[in-house]
Amino acid sequence: MRHELEQNEKLKIVSQLAASVAHEVRNPLTVVKGFLQLFKENADESKKNYLQIALSELERAELIITDYLNLAKPHSEHLETVYVPDFLHHTVEMMYSYGLIKNVEIKLVISFADKELYITADKTKLSQVIINLIKNGVEAISKSGTVTVSGSRDAHTVVIEVADTGAGMSEETIANIGTPFFTTKESGTGLGTLVSIRIVEAMSGKISFASKPGKGTTVTLKFPAVTPIDK
Ligand code: ADP
Ligand code: MG
Repeated sequence: MRHELEQNEKLKIVSQLAASVAHEVRNPLTVVKGFLQLFKENADESKKNYLQIALSELERAELIITDYLNLAKPHSEHLETVYVPDFLHHTVEMMYSYGLIKNVEIKLVISFADKELYITADKTKLSQVIINLIKNGVEAISKSGTVTVSGSRDAHTVVIEVADTGAGMSEETIANIGTPFFTTKESGTGLGTLVSIRIVEAMSGKISFASKPGKGTTVTLKFPAVTPIDK
């Protein structure tokens, strides 16, 4: 117990420190990104490729920074009623080309579209969660495969799933999910799932991981279903 408290205190200090650095680094990154985009528009084909690689790497840095910021501040400031099918559509669209490069098809399946799929959420934070989960799915696939994002609901719960046909996780890995800085990847941060768990829990949601080595992983998010007022 005492050990756990000390760990929590340490994590708090580390995450606050990291968040303040992340915040400072984000502004210069945005400036560099803007100029690269400008150069890319006017560049000839041979240079366009290199500029695109530079831009993708910047995006990767931005995602890592956002994870660090969310680690210190998982709580949402902009809660709104979100229509899950449109939200998932936008998020999956953003990740589509990332999947293509890695030979992974990212699919979206909306069941019960006739029923109302509304939740209360912070869109920016929830999309960071979905992006983290899709990225993990894509990274778990070695040659080619599929990441399926789905939205459905039962009586009182909206269910979002991110399922991949990747390598799956050993029991040891599953047991370590959500441990700060736990990663099995060469250049992983070990923050994506921890941040995702914190964000989902801060929005009154639940998150669970099911995985079979060699078969793949399914991450399930559950949120209380809401009825929009102006309907
Ligand atoms: P990172 O992706 O930077 O390693 P995460 O917190 O996102 O950090 O994930 C931690 C670890 O959990 C990963 O290194 C990987 O071993 C495991 N993991 C998470 N999601 C999946 C998945 N979909 N398939 C297989 N392993 C996963
Ligand atoms: Mg990750």
